[in-house]
Amino acid sequence: MTMKITVDLDGCTGCACCMMESPNVFDIDDETGQVIVLVENPGEELREEVERGIRSCPENVIVLETA
Ligand code: SF4
Repeated sequence: MTMKITVDLDGCTGCACCMMESPNVFDIDDETGQVIVLVENPGEELREEVERGIRSCPENVIVLETA
């Protein structure tokens, strides 16, 4: 099972909730003030953290695809 994270940056306010909940996966870009995905294809060991980060996003702009 592979995972892929994508973010709709048009809706990202840079609130950093995802980074607080999932610091190994999300960061905030100092220049744009928006999220950066550090690990676009996380392994299973990061699943819980990724899902926590996704749930924390007030704008619901983080999408996790699994295949
Ligand atoms: S929680 Fe959502 S809106 Fe906030 S920085 Fe992360 S992706 Fe952007």
